[in-house]
Amino acid sequence: MSEKLINKGIRPDGRKLDEIRPLKIKAGVVDRADGSAYVEFGTTKVISAVYGPKKVHPRHMEKSKKAILKVRYNMIPFSVYDRKRPGYDKRSVEIAKVVSEALENVIFLEEFPKSAIDIDMEIIQADAGTRVAAITAASVALADAGIPMRGLISSVAAGRVEGNIVLDLTKEEEDASDAIDLPVAMLARTGEITLLQMDGDASVDEIEKIVRMTEKGCKDIEKIQGKALIEKYNANTA
Ligand code: ADP
Repeated sequence: MSEKLINKGIRPDGRKLDEIRPLKIKAGVVDRADGSAYVEFGTTKVISAVYGPKKVHPRHMEKSKKAILKVRYNMIPFSVYDRKRPGYDKRSVEIAKVVSEALENVIFLEEFPKSAIDIDMEIIQADAGTRVAAITAASVALADAGIPMRGLISSVAAGRVEGNIVLDLTKEEEDASDAIDLPVAMLARTGEITLLQMDGDASVDEIEKIVRMTEKGCKDIEKIQGKALIEKYNANTA
């Protein structure tokens, strides 16, 4: 039988079951964007840049009563071990769509009719959890761009590995034979869920525990997102 990944509640990287990976967030990392952020969940690394509100191209996509979001998610070739083919694929298009839906309900889009807000997310290094890192970064980038929102969206995955409910899975954990992984995005201030995805099988009880674990994770992440924005603001006003 193969060796277990989780022994006595300790994971391969030394974390407890309910711990996120070391999280680093820096706001305002791209001079040429209106807002930006860099996020690291352990070795998963993402940059997000926000442009706008600006004119819509092509014009026919414009909405008379609100702004539209144009979201791009891209994994750069050296983000994974087997150099990835450059460019967008089916997976990146699907992720961009769910990220857009996870963010749009908290943005006051009606304040910017006939405009577009572009959100770019580049995955620099991937070790699972790229969509949740991307959402966490995009939310800080939107706030950094001064886009009005009901609050910050925070995002993390939790799941099951070898029968244990765990927070913020690595690729090694995700690849375990019984593993399931539920990425969740949340308006952490209210606990409102804006993204919840799952493949595989789980009991209602497991799903409830997993979602509760992401709630705790999102609340911790929101504090670090807020700190990153305050640090950027303080640096600008010093
Ligand atoms: P997420 O990154 O949001 O967890 P997935 O579950 O689709 O999304 O992917 C899990 C992980 O699998 C990624 O973070 C990455 O480490 C790896 N992965 C995804 N797509 C590729 C790819 N085309 N080539 C190599 N590894 C990939």
